[in-house]
Amino acid sequence: MRRQKRREVTIETKCGVCHEARAEFRCPQCHKPVCDACAFKTEHGAFCSRQCEAAYRDFVQTKRPEPPRPRRSLLKPVIVAVLMIIIVIAAMKAGWLSYLFGIP
Ligand SMILES: [Zn+2]
Ligand SMILES: [Zn+2]
Repeated sequence: MRRQKRREVTIETKCGVCHEARAEFRCPQCHKPVCDACAFKTEHGAFCSRQCEAAYRDFVQTKRPEPPRPRRSLLKPVIVAVLMIIIVIAAMKAGWLSYLFGIP
């Protein structure tokens, strides 16, 4: 059985706002294609409308409460703690603790 020729996907995406110009961007909120003239450009991207921009900003802000990189900030204290445990174990093995604290 022969496969059907795949349809060419070269369809120019038309702007979802004016339906005339070729879309240059895609709204990050509703994924609607937008042309350069219709795009509502912000630091978050080119939106199809102000409403989408507002909705997206709300979404980004509600997502934000957690610190951006919790892993990195956690890693350092863990390494420090592990190092301290190793030092304490080494010190106990070497008998430094009893020497330092005067325990016979
Ligand atoms: Zn347009
Ligand atoms: Zn949109």
